[in-house]
Amino acid sequence: MGRKRVKSNFGSFFISPCLSRQYFALVIFIALCQYIDMVCVYCGGDTRVVNSRPQIRSNQIWRRRLCKSCQAIFSTIESHDPAQTWMVKKPGKPAKEFAKEKLFLSIYESLKHRSTALYDAKHLTQTVINNLSRTTKDGIIESRTITNTVIVSLNRFDKTASTHYRAFHAI
Ligand SMILES: [Zn+2]
Repeated sequence: MGRKRVKSNFGSFFISPCLSRQYFALVIFIALCQYIDMVCVYCGGDTRVVNSRPQIRSNQIWRRRLCKSCQAIFSTIESHDPAQTWMVKKPGKPAKEFAKEKLFLSIYESLKHRSTALYDAKHLTQTVINNLSRTTKDGIIESRTITNTVIVSLNRFDKTASTHYRAFHAI
């Protein structure tokens, strides 16, 4: 009875035989959880997907869902959660979780002179996240990379907003 080599998404590792039963119970539990479907936003009934499309640029999946109980139709968007996968590094400070809300607020503050600031900030935040996902392979992002990416996006979109952002965010 030796240790057992197990391959997972997090790399392969060894576990003892007494732990292997618990490990496979966990694997089965996770596999079952992956098939839990979203419930209806109106009645809480079961739903099924009736249409889905990939959104290549934003790496998201759009789905149209139909409620099996009340026949309501609504949309969902599946995307990765950067707060769960990215850590932000600042020189001389411990790494922190990526905060989408903080990014949104910094962009929104720079766009306040526009009547469509809220809408623009929402979409620019998503653009910055899409661009950032191409810069990281290991989930670690330098804070200055975020600042630079925001400046590049704002420069293309609104020069006044870019100037405002640079006044408050040193590179
Ligand atoms: Zn329903």
